[in-house]
Amino acid sequence: MDALKFDEQVCATCPTGDCLVKCQYMEFDADGARAEMLKIFRGEDSAVLKDCVTCYACEEYCRRGNHPFYLIVDRQEEKGMLTAPRPITNQWINMTTMQGKMMTGAIEDRAMSCCFIPQLAELAGGEIFKDYAWSFALGAEYMCPAVFLHFARKSIIRERLPQVIDNLARTGAQEVLCMHDECYGTYTSIAPAHGIDVPFKPIYYMDYLYERLLSMKDDLRPLGVKVAYQRPCSNRLIPEKHHLVRDILDLIGADLPDREYQDENALCCGEVPRVIHGLRFAEDIQHRNIDDMLETGAEYCVFNCPACQTTLSELVTKKGLKPIHLIDLCKMAIGEKGEEV
Ligand code: SF4
Ligand code: SF4
Repeated sequence: MDALKFDEQVCATCPTGDCLVKCQYMEFDADGARAEMLKIFRGEDSAVLKDCVTCYACEEYCRRGNHPFYLIVDRQEEKGMLTAPRPITNQWINMTTMQGKMMTGAIEDRAMSCCFIPQLAELAGGEIFKDYAWSFALGAEYMCPAVFLHFARKSIIRERLPQVIDNLARTGAQEVLCMHDECYGTYTSIAPAHGIDVPFKPIYYMDYLYERLLSMKDDLRPLGVKVAYQRPCSNRLIPEKHHLVRDILDLIGADLPDREYQDENALCCGEVPRVIHGLRFAEDIQHRNIDDMLETGAEYCVFNCPACQTTLSELVTKKGLKPIHLIDLCKMAIGEKGEEV
Protein backbone atom coordinates (compact mmCIF):
# COMPACT_ATOMS: atom_id res chain seq x y z
CA MET A 1 0.00 0.00 0.00
CA ASP A 2 1.56 3.23 -1.16
CA ALA A 3 1.87 6.61 0.51
CA LEU A 4 -1.14 8.80 0.97
CA LYS A 5 -1.95 11.07 -1.96
CA PHE A 6 -1.97 14.49 -0.34
CA ASP A 7 -1.07 17.75 -2.10
CA GLU A 8 0.06 20.53 0.23
CA GLN A 9 -0.36 23.08 -2.59
CA VAL A 10 -4.07 22.34 -2.54
CA CYS A 11 -4.11 23.35 1.14
CA ALA A 12 -1.86 26.37 0.57
CA THR A 13 -4.41 27.83 -1.85
CA CYS A 14 -7.52 26.70 0.01
CA PRO A 15 -9.98 29.60 0.48
CA THR A 16 -12.01 28.00 3.28
CA GLY A 17 -9.98 25.63 5.46
CA ASP A 18 -13.26 23.78 5.84
CA CYS A 19 -11.61 20.65 7.23
CA LEU A 20 -10.88 22.32 10.56
CA VAL A 21 -13.25 25.31 10.39
CA LYS A 22 -16.19 22.89 10.36
CA CYS A 23 -14.66 20.45 12.87
CA GLN A 24 -17.10 20.21 15.80
CA TYR A 25 -14.35 19.59 18.32
CA MET A 26 -11.93 22.47 17.61
CA GLU A 27 -12.02 26.22 16.87
CA PHE A 28 -10.24 27.48 13.75
CA ASP A 29 -10.75 30.28 11.27
CA ALA A 30 -9.84 29.75 7.61
CA ASP A 31 -6.29 31.14 7.90
CA GLY A 32 -5.60 29.14 11.03
CA ALA A 33 -7.00 25.94 9.53
CA ARG A 34 -4.92 26.26 6.38
CA ALA A 35 -1.76 26.99 8.40
CA GLU A 36 -2.44 24.06 10.74
CA MET A 37 -2.91 21.59 7.91
CA LEU A 38 0.38 22.74 6.38
CA LYS A 39 2.09 22.27 9.76
CA ILE A 40 0.65 18.77 9.98
CA PHE A 41 1.79 18.04 6.43
CA ARG A 42 5.35 19.13 7.33
CA GLY A 43 5.32 16.79 10.33
CA GLU A 44 5.38 19.58 12.91
CA ASP A 45 3.60 19.29 16.24
CA SER A 46 -0.05 20.29 16.19
CA ALA A 47 -2.76 20.27 18.84
CA VAL A 48 -5.03 18.76 16.21
CA LEU A 49 -3.15 15.47 16.49
CA LYS A 50 -3.99 15.32 20.19
CA ASP A 51 -7.51 16.79 20.16
CA CYS A 52 -8.90 14.90 17.18
CA VAL A 53 -11.70 12.55 18.28
CA THR A 54 -11.41 10.64 14.96
CA CYS A 55 -14.94 11.42 13.82
CA TYR A 56 -13.78 11.17 10.15
CA ALA A 57 -15.84 14.29 9.29
CA CYS A 58 -13.02 16.38 7.82
CA GLU A 59 -12.77 13.81 5.03
CA GLU A 60 -16.23 15.08 4.04
CA TYR A 61 -15.61 18.75 4.85
CA CYS A 62 -12.62 18.99 2.48
CA ARG A 63 -14.18 19.62 -0.92
CA ARG A 64 -10.81 19.92 -2.66
CA GLY A 65 -9.95 16.23 -2.84
CA ASN A 66 -7.23 16.26 -0.19
CA HIS A 67 -7.42 13.80 2.68
CA PRO A 68 -7.02 15.72 5.95
CA PHE A 69 -8.06 12.92 8.26
CA TYR A 70 -5.93 10.26 6.56
CA LEU A 71 -2.99 12.68 6.92
CA ILE A 72 -3.72 13.27 10.62
CA VAL A 73 -3.70 9.50 11.22
CA ASP A 74 -0.37 9.07 9.45
CA ARG A 75 1.21 11.85 11.54
CA GLN A 76 -0.22 10.51 14.80
CA GLU A 77 1.32 7.13 14.14
CA GLU A 78 4.64 8.57 12.97
CA LYS A 79 4.88 10.43 16.28
CA GLY A 80 4.00 7.31 18.26
CA MET A 81 0.75 8.83 19.51
CA LEU A 82 -2.05 6.58 20.70
CA THR A 83 -5.59 7.89 20.47
CA ALA A 84 -6.99 5.16 22.75
CA PRO A 85 -5.33 3.39 25.68
CA ARG A 86 -2.76 0.84 24.49
CA PRO A 87 -4.69 -2.24 25.80
CA ILE A 88 -7.77 -1.22 23.81
CA THR A 89 -5.73 -0.63 20.67
CA ASN A 90 -4.00 -4.00 21.09
CA GLN A 91 -7.30 -5.71 21.83
CA TRP A 92 -8.67 -4.49 18.50
CA ILE A 93 -5.55 -5.60 16.66
CA ASN A 94 -5.66 -9.06 18.27
CA MET A 95 -9.35 -9.81 18.02
CA THR A 96 -9.44 -8.95 14.30
CA THR A 97 -6.36 -10.97 13.36
CA MET A 98 -6.95 -13.38 10.49
CA GLN A 99 -7.04 -16.96 11.80
CA GLY A 100 -8.61 -18.85 8.92
CA LYS A 101 -12.00 -18.89 10.62
CA MET A 102 -13.89 -16.95 7.97
CA MET A 103 -17.27 -18.06 6.65
CA THR A 104 -17.68 -18.08 2.89
CA GLY A 105 -20.99 -18.82 1.19
CA ALA A 106 -21.64 -20.17 -2.27
CA ILE A 107 -20.14 -17.24 -4.14
CA GLU A 108 -20.26 -17.08 -7.93
CA ASP A 109 -19.98 -13.76 -9.74
CA ARG A 110 -21.11 -11.67 -6.80
CA ALA A 111 -20.46 -11.67 -3.11
CA MET A 112 -21.98 -9.95 -0.13
CA SER A 113 -19.36 -8.60 2.24
CA CYS A 114 -20.56 -8.74 5.84
CA CYS A 115 -17.17 -7.63 7.11
CA PHE A 116 -16.56 -8.87 10.68
CA ILE A 117 -20.16 -8.23 11.77
CA PRO A 118 -22.52 -11.25 12.00
CA GLN A 119 -25.57 -8.97 12.43
CA LEU A 120 -25.07 -7.85 8.83
CA ALA A 121 -25.56 -11.40 7.58
CA GLU A 122 -28.83 -11.58 9.54
CA LEU A 123 -30.03 -8.21 8.24
CA ALA A 124 -29.27 -9.15 4.66
CA GLY A 125 -31.84 -11.91 4.38
CA GLY A 126 -35.37 -12.09 3.05
CA GLU A 127 -36.99 -10.97 -0.16
CA ILE A 128 -35.00 -7.75 -0.53
CA PHE A 129 -31.65 -9.53 -0.65
CA LYS A 130 -32.76 -12.76 -2.33
CA ASP A 131 -30.39 -12.18 -5.27
CA TYR A 132 -27.49 -12.36 -2.81
CA ALA A 133 -28.73 -15.37 -0.82
CA TRP A 134 -25.83 -17.54 0.39
CA SER A 135 -23.22 -15.30 -1.20
CA PHE A 136 -21.92 -13.97 2.11
CA ALA A 137 -18.29 -13.42 3.06
CA LEU A 138 -17.85 -12.95 6.81
CA GLY A 139 -14.87 -12.90 9.12
CA ALA A 140 -11.51 -11.29 9.77
CA GLU A 141 -10.23 -12.38 6.35
CA TYR A 142 -12.89 -10.16 4.77
CA MET A 143 -12.88 -7.36 7.33
CA CYS A 144 -12.00 -3.97 5.97
CA PRO A 145 -9.44 -2.65 8.44
CA ALA A 146 -10.69 0.96 8.37
CA VAL A 147 -11.42 0.88 12.11
CA PHE A 148 -7.70 1.35 12.74
CA LEU A 149 -8.05 4.93 11.58
CA HIS A 150 -9.61 5.46 15.02
CA PHE A 151 -6.52 4.05 16.71
CA ALA A 152 -3.80 5.93 14.82
CA ARG A 153 -2.66 2.66 13.32
CA LYS A 154 -2.68 3.08 9.58
CA SER A 155 0.18 0.58 9.47
CA ILE A 156 -2.40 -2.13 10.23
CA ILE A 157 -4.49 -0.93 7.31
CA ARG A 158 -1.43 -0.91 5.08
CA GLU A 159 -0.62 -4.47 6.13
CA ARG A 160 -4.10 -5.97 6.03
CA LEU A 161 -6.02 -4.19 3.30
CA PRO A 162 -4.16 -5.79 0.36
CA GLN A 163 -4.77 -9.21 1.97
CA VAL A 164 -8.47 -8.52 2.46
CA ILE A 165 -8.85 -7.35 -1.13
CA ASP A 166 -7.00 -10.44 -2.33
CA ASN A 167 -9.20 -12.71 -0.20
CA LEU A 168 -12.35 -11.20 -1.68
CA ALA A 169 -10.95 -11.35 -5.21
CA ARG A 170 -10.11 -15.05 -4.70
CA THR A 171 -13.78 -15.82 -4.16
CA GLY A 172 -14.17 -15.12 -7.86
CA ALA A 173 -16.71 -12.36 -7.31
CA GLN A 174 -16.73 -9.57 -9.88
CA GLU A 175 -19.04 -7.47 -7.70
CA VAL A 176 -18.99 -7.14 -3.92
CA LEU A 177 -22.04 -5.80 -2.16
CA CYS A 178 -20.75 -3.89 0.88
CA MET A 179 -23.18 -4.16 3.78
CA HIS A 180 -21.20 -1.71 5.89
CA ASP A 181 -20.24 1.87 5.04
CA GLU A 182 -16.79 1.19 6.43
CA CYS A 183 -16.18 -1.48 3.74
CA TYR A 184 -17.50 0.60 0.85
CA GLY A 185 -15.53 3.59 2.14
CA THR A 186 -12.41 1.45 2.35
CA TYR A 187 -12.63 0.23 -1.25
CA THR A 188 -13.72 3.55 -2.79
CA SER A 189 -11.89 6.11 -0.62
CA ILE A 190 -9.05 4.66 1.48
CA ALA A 191 -7.76 2.35 -1.26
CA PRO A 192 -7.58 4.96 -4.07
CA ALA A 193 -6.22 7.61 -1.68
CA HIS A 194 -3.29 5.27 -1.08
CA GLY A 195 -2.86 4.08 -4.66
CA ILE A 196 -4.14 0.56 -4.14
CA ASP A 197 -6.14 -1.24 -6.82
CA VAL A 198 -9.45 -2.93 -6.13
CA PRO A 199 -10.01 -5.67 -8.73
CA PHE A 200 -13.74 -6.09 -8.08
CA LYS A 201 -16.62 -3.62 -8.28
CA PRO A 202 -17.76 -2.48 -4.81
CA ILE A 203 -21.50 -1.86 -4.58
CA TYR A 204 -22.95 0.18 -1.75
CA TYR A 205 -25.82 -1.60 -0.01
CA MET A 206 -28.04 1.51 0.01
CA ASP A 207 -27.71 1.83 -3.77
CA TYR A 208 -28.85 -1.77 -4.02
CA LEU A 209 -31.59 -1.25 -1.43
CA TYR A 210 -33.00 1.78 -3.22
CA GLU A 211 -33.10 0.07 -6.61
CA ARG A 212 -34.54 -3.12 -5.12
CA LEU A 213 -37.31 -1.22 -3.33
CA LEU A 214 -38.13 0.62 -6.54
CA SER A 215 -38.53 -2.75 -8.27
CA MET A 216 -40.87 -3.83 -5.43
CA LYS A 217 -42.84 -0.60 -5.45
CA ASP A 218 -46.20 -2.34 -5.74
CA ASP A 219 -45.47 -4.26 -2.53
CA LEU A 220 -44.52 -1.23 -0.47
CA ARG A 221 -46.80 -0.09 2.31
CA PRO A 222 -46.03 3.54 3.29
CA LEU A 223 -45.09 3.47 6.96
CA GLY A 224 -46.31 6.95 7.87
CA VAL A 225 -43.79 7.28 10.69
CA LYS A 226 -41.46 10.05 11.77
CA VAL A 227 -37.81 9.01 12.22
CA ALA A 228 -34.44 10.37 13.25
CA TYR A 229 -31.28 9.05 11.58
CA GLN A 230 -27.96 8.22 13.25
CA ARG A 231 -25.24 8.90 10.69
CA PRO A 232 -22.12 6.76 11.25
CA CYS A 233 -18.56 8.08 11.09
CA SER A 234 -17.71 5.88 8.12
CA ASN A 235 -20.38 7.58 6.01
CA ARG A 236 -18.05 10.62 6.05
CA LEU A 237 -15.75 8.67 3.74
CA ILE A 238 -18.55 8.39 1.15
CA PRO A 239 -20.55 11.63 1.50
CA GLU A 240 -21.78 11.29 -2.08
CA LYS A 241 -23.95 8.41 -0.83
CA HIS A 242 -25.53 10.21 2.12
CA HIS A 243 -28.56 11.34 0.06
CA LEU A 244 -29.65 7.71 -0.26
CA VAL A 245 -30.92 7.69 3.33
CA ARG A 246 -33.54 10.30 2.56
CA ASP A 247 -34.26 8.75 -0.84
CA ILE A 248 -34.99 5.36 0.76
CA LEU A 249 -37.00 6.87 3.61
CA ASP A 250 -39.10 8.82 1.09
CA LEU A 251 -39.75 5.61 -0.81
CA ILE A 252 -41.07 3.78 2.24
CA GLY A 253 -43.11 6.70 3.56
CA ALA A 254 -40.93 7.59 6.55
CA ASP A 255 -40.55 11.28 7.38
CA LEU A 256 -37.07 12.54 8.35
CA PRO A 257 -37.52 16.01 9.87
CA ASP A 258 -34.58 18.41 9.87
CA ARG A 259 -32.66 18.66 13.10
CA GLU A 260 -29.50 20.38 14.31
CA TYR A 261 -27.17 17.35 14.32
CA GLN A 262 -27.93 16.04 10.89
CA ASP A 263 -26.13 15.77 7.54
CA GLU A 264 -22.75 17.59 7.71
CA ASN A 265 -23.42 18.51 11.34
CA ALA A 266 -24.13 14.95 12.50
CA LEU A 267 -22.75 13.73 15.80
CA CYS A 268 -21.24 10.27 16.05
CA CYS A 269 -22.64 7.57 18.33
CA GLY A 270 -20.04 8.38 20.97
CA GLU A 271 -18.41 4.96 21.32
CA VAL A 272 -15.01 5.92 19.92
CA PRO A 273 -14.95 9.32 21.71
CA ARG A 274 -15.67 7.37 24.91
CA VAL A 275 -12.48 5.34 24.63
CA ILE A 276 -10.46 8.34 23.44
CA HIS A 277 -11.71 11.18 25.64
CA GLY A 278 -13.66 9.44 28.38
CA LEU A 279 -17.20 8.77 29.50
CA ARG A 280 -18.28 12.34 30.25
CA PHE A 281 -17.16 13.55 26.85
CA ALA A 282 -19.09 10.76 25.15
CA GLU A 283 -22.19 11.30 27.28
CA ASP A 284 -22.29 14.97 26.32
CA ILE A 285 -22.29 14.00 22.62
CA GLN A 286 -24.90 11.30 23.12
CA HIS A 287 -27.28 13.43 25.17
CA ARG A 288 -27.14 16.40 22.82
CA ASN A 289 -27.74 14.06 19.90
CA ILE A 290 -30.63 12.12 21.42
CA ASP A 291 -32.33 15.24 22.81
CA ASP A 292 -32.11 16.69 19.31
CA MET A 293 -33.76 13.56 17.90
CA LEU A 294 -36.55 13.78 20.46
CA GLU A 295 -37.27 17.41 19.60
CA THR A 296 -38.27 16.35 16.10
CA GLY A 297 -41.03 14.14 17.52
CA ALA A 298 -39.44 11.06 15.96
CA GLU A 299 -40.80 7.63 16.85
CA TYR A 300 -37.84 5.61 15.55
CA CYS A 301 -34.09 6.08 15.68
CA VAL A 302 -32.84 4.62 12.40
CA PHE A 303 -29.34 3.17 12.23
CA ASN A 304 -27.07 2.44 9.33
CA CYS A 305 -24.10 1.00 11.25
CA PRO A 306 -24.64 -1.98 13.62
CA ALA A 307 -21.90 -0.61 15.91
CA CYS A 308 -23.82 2.66 16.38
CA GLN A 309 -26.96 0.60 16.97
CA THR A 310 -25.26 -1.46 19.68
CA THR A 311 -23.90 1.68 21.34
CA LEU A 312 -27.08 3.75 21.32
CA SER A 313 -30.01 1.30 21.37
CA GLU A 314 -30.43 1.18 25.13
CA LEU A 315 -30.04 4.94 25.50
CA VAL A 316 -32.57 5.83 22.83
CA THR A 317 -34.99 3.19 24.12
CA LYS A 318 -34.87 4.71 27.60
CA LYS A 319 -35.78 8.06 26.05
CA GLY A 320 -38.77 6.58 24.23
CA LEU A 321 -37.33 6.11 20.73
CA LYS A 322 -37.46 2.73 18.99
CA PRO A 323 -34.05 1.69 17.64
CA ILE A 324 -34.10 0.03 14.23
CA HIS A 325 -31.72 -0.61 11.37
CA LEU A 326 -32.65 0.99 8.05
CA ILE A 327 -32.90 -2.45 6.43
CA ASP A 328 -35.38 -3.64 9.06
CA LEU A 329 -37.45 -0.49 8.50
CA CYS A 330 -37.56 -1.39 4.80
CA LYS A 331 -38.62 -4.94 5.74
CA MET A 332 -41.48 -3.40 7.72
CA ALA A 333 -42.54 -1.51 4.60
CA ILE A 334 -42.85 -4.75 2.62
CA GLY A 335 -44.65 -6.50 5.50
CA GLU A 336 -41.77 -8.87 6.19
CA LYS A 337 -41.19 -7.53 9.67
CA GLY A 338 -43.64 -6.42 12.34
CA GLU A 339 -43.66 -3.01 13.96
CA GLU A 340 -42.42 -4.24 17.32
CA VAL A 341 -38.71 -3.53 17.83
S1 SF4 B 1 -7.48 19.64 3.76
FE1 SF4 B 1 -8.94 20.44 2.28
S2 SF4 B 1 -10.28 21.87 3.40
FE2 SF4 B 1 -8.41 21.50 4.66
S3 SF4 B 1 -7.03 23.18 4.12
FE3 SF4 B 1 -6.51 21.44 2.82
S4 SF4 B 1 -7.71 21.73 0.93
FE4 SF4 B 1 -8.62 23.06 2.51
S1 SF4 C 1 -11.56 13.71 12.32
FE1 SF4 C 1 -13.19 14.92 13.26
S2 SF4 C 1 -12.32 15.63 15.20
FE2 SF4 C 1 -10.60 14.97 13.91
S3 SF4 C 1 -9.93 16.87 12.89
FE3 SF4 C 1 -11.35 15.78 11.51
S4 SF4 C 1 -13.35 16.75 11.90
FE4 SF4 C 1 -12.01 17.25 13.67
